[in-house]
Amino acid sequence: MAGERISAIPVRPAIAYHSAPALPSMLTLEKFSIGVGDRFAHQAKAQLRACQLVARDGAEVVPVWNKSNREHTFVGSEPESVLLAARAAVQALDWPGGWHVDADHIRLETVERFLPHSDFFTIDVADSIGQPAAPEAVTAFVDRHPELIGTISIPQIAAPFTTTRAEIERLAGKFLLAVQDAGKIYRHIAEKKGADRLIAEVSMDETDTPQTPPELLVILAALADEQVPVQTIAPKFTGRFNKGVDYVGDLAQFEREFHDDLAVIAHAIARYGLPANLKLSVHSGSDKFSLYPIIRRTLPKFGAGLHLKTAGTTWLEEPIGLAEAGGEGLAFAKEIYAGAIGHVDEFCAPYASVIDIDKAKLPTAEEVNGWTSAQFTGALRHDQQHPLFNSSFRQLLHVSFKLAAKAGQRYLDLLVANEEIVGKNVTENLYVRHLKPLFIG
Ligand SMILES: [Zn+2]
Repeated sequence: MAGERISAIPVRPAIAYHSAPALPSMLTLEKFSIGVGDRFAHQAKAQLRACQLVARDGAEVVPVWNKSNREHTFVGSEPESVLLAARAAVQALDWPGGWHVDADHIRLETVERFLPHSDFFTIDVADSIGQPAAPEAVTAFVDRHPELIGTISIPQIAAPFTTTRAEIERLAGKFLLAVQDAGKIYRHIAEKKGADRLIAEVSMDETDTPQTPPELLVILAALADEQVPVQTIAPKFTGRFNKGVDYVGDLAQFEREFHDDLAVIAHAIARYGLPANLKLSVHSGSDKFSLYPIIRRTLPKFGAGLHLKTAGTTWLEEPIGLAEAGGEGLAFAKEIYAGAIGHVDEFCAPYASVIDIDKAKLPTAEEVNGWTSAQFTGALRHDQQHPLFNSSFRQLLHVSFKLAAKAGQRYLDLLVANEEIVGKNVTENLYVRHLKPLFIG
């Protein structure tokens, strides 16, 4: 982890010009980072190779290996495996840059087993949004923040926000408990690990309604009050972020919202003394290709950094690589699909709000059994121009990784036997479809 390298000297966040108490010291996250998921802990090297390629093009993007408690539970893995795989990749490729291991979407109940093996913690407080905070806490918050009431002019936001005391009370009522939760979880981690050995992200993306830029401002003011040195914040954005497929929503609206969120963050850093490198974390659900040009042209307007979280996009390159290999690999990929089509409702249930599968578009197991390598990879690989590309097929396999986990050693042996062809797909996918369009263009 970054703690193991010389450039990761813990630094204090920027000094605020108002009288906020100083935040705890922290381990500093680099400006650009990509969250990569590696469900079966066999692709870290191939993922890191993609970072090497984009570095050669001139963009320093550090990898953050993320895995949530839910994924560990589904796969039957332990957090230490993520650290070991990441460290082995860093050593094998002699990677000179930063790297981190993210305990993704943890809460107080789930963080414990991640503590020794992570230096990045995604503190998930989405479930507390909307739960009422104590009325005294709400009143105290609003009294402490008269600057949030009235007309708030923020550089680069065209129309100033206008708010009333009642409106700020309502927003504080909606978010204060979630922020207090974030404080509690952060302090627990900091106490066990040491504040200067961790990077804190606060995530609110797994909820029903997107947070507007004025809401983000209230959340950041409250996080500063709680003294959480938050370096990345993951709001829920407008539109659908389905697993493994492109964004569905209004691109112009996303662009306005993303722009205004960046403006709010820059303002909150200066006003509330939050860490100077605080940046947005986009929990993409993988493969939001149509957002990449928007993100790329908006970040420089604020000199802002970015954390982009992808996860399942790497897992899908494994069946793609195996299918491409033919023989036993292709047979196994077909077997996974046959299992998936037999359990569509069961596998989709935990992800119901983040997938849109058209069952009529799902081929039968018999059809797929007759496919060639090219037919299977054509349907699965995320090339929307490809005549065989089938987003329902892709989404179903995306949520069916449990079947590969169930195959256990047989699956892992296939990954090892086909390491080269699978790795080539993993690297190419991350580099060509993600890192390059996002950071190079
Ligand atoms: Zn998320």
